Amino acid sequence: MSEDAVMPMTGSTPVLAVVGRPNVGKSTLVNRILGRREAVVQDIPGVTRDRVSYDAEWNGRAFTVVDTGGWDPDARGMAERIKGQAEIAVSLADAVLFVVDATVGITDADEAVVRVLRKSGKPVLLTANKVDDERTEAEAYALWNLGLGEPLPVSALHGRGSGDLLDAVLKVLPEAPADADEEVGGPRRIAIVGRPNVGKSSLLNKLAGEERSVVDNVAGTTVDPVDEIVELGGRSWRFIDTAGIRKRVKEASGHEYYAWLRTSTAIERAEVCVLVLDGSQSIAEQDIRILQEIREAGRALVIAFNKWDLVDGERRFYLDREIERDLVQVQWAPRINITAKTGWHIDRLVPALERAIEGWETRVSTGALNAFLGRLVAEHPHPVRGGKQPRILFGTQVQVAHPTFKLFTSGKLDAGYERYIERRLREEFGFVGTPIEIKVQPRE
Ligand code: GDP
Ligand code: GDP
Repeated sequence: MSEDAVMPMTGSTPVLAVVGRPNVGKSTLVNRILGRREAVVQDIPGVTRDRVSYDAEWNGRAFTVVDTGGWDPDARGMAERIKGQAEIAVSLADAVLFVVDATVGITDADEAVVRVLRKSGKPVLLTANKVDDERTEAEAYALWNLGLGEPLPVSALHGRGSGDLLDAVLKVLPEAPADADEEVGGPRRIAIVGRPNVGKSSLLNKLAGEERSVVDNVAGTTVDPVDEIVELGGRSWRFIDTAGIRKRVKEASGHEYYAWLRTSTAIERAEVCVLVLDGSQSIAEQDIRILQEIREAGRALVIAFNKWDLVDGERRFYLDREIERDLVQVQWAPRINITAKTGWHIDRLVPALERAIEGWETRVSTGALNAFLGRLVAEHPHPVRGGKQPRILFGTQVQVAHPTFKLFTSGKLDAGYERYIERRLREEFGFVGTPIEIKVQPRE
């Protein structure tokens, strides 16, 4: 799993959902699958994990891992919840990794999950986790009784068997995503995200008018249709997980985590996200949380302040303050003010999306980048630290969409200096509407 490879992962990769009871080792296994590239934050009891989708790679093939484990294991109605979790997972995923704790064996909750998985017709890999040594391997074989085929013994904690497991994963995941050919010139993938009631469905309805065509889920299976293709500004756009948007209100009243799971996965599958905010209300913590997710996923972003019909002079005054305070991290995102209900200004969305995508896909040649870095350092060298002055030796853009730079240096750079580099990169090359990432590699 090389960090450095030029790998324009744009979210159209096949999706693997990891399902199982609490404590069977799902997040440990996800960490194992990801290598040490990204750490899955461990559960704080009663608090859901923020991040559920991750870009993974094995043997040169990219896929998305969705960790469905982030809910409170002590909550009441656990069996019901596990079943619900499995249902969502199969509707999102191309294949399911079902994790069972081999040292505990089969429980009723496991059996409930098996029924859901069987019904889905999706490929399922049965993982017998916590097989830390040969002795435990015998216990893994008891899991044949689940009727899901051969249990694959692994130790997520120590890595035992994880290579074989990943090989098996690649075998069941679709070779290319169903929409792989969209990478060139096909419909762009957009996720409309935001809190409940900000006007996401209203916006989609206005955009789509009569001409909406529902398309099947990634793998073209029989689950809920999730995407819609809409013609806008002379081209087709693929709106991700709009079924999820329609369901959201219902889900939010049930368990907020499901809504979050959908949002997070829609972001992961999208190329560009439209974050819809209610302009008439204060920017909320949940808005910031979604923004954070979009930044971490490295997706292009447009911010739409909806319900502009309700924004008066006084609200406008406070909104400007809130934007300065809460959106300072995403100053680069195009912002539009709209009224989805009447359609006012929604024609501004497409140009904003196009600018964001352009920024997201910007590639700076190595020559131009190093010439720029030379000027930057000459104008404003890194401060001396402990008698030494870290120098930037060489830089290269290792990835587009989202733009990612690698800088080889003679020592660690201050966080402030990295921010300075990012600011200057934006001044010089644009990068409107996109997060950019800078990786610093100090010379040994
Ligand atoms: P989740 O709730 O399913 O995500 O489970 P976690 O990944 O949080 O793991 C639950 C506990 O099981 C943690 O204490 C892990 O360290 C432990 N665990 C996970 N995988 C293994 C394994 O392969 N072997 C052993 N012995 N313990 C494991
Ligand atoms: P969603 O939950 O984000 O999909 O939000 P909806 O599209 O269902 O809208 C929630 C509520 O806000 C509905 O009552 C809409 O009629 C209302 N709404 C949506 N857009 C606007 C707008 O631009 N102005 C006003 N005043 N109300 C709006």
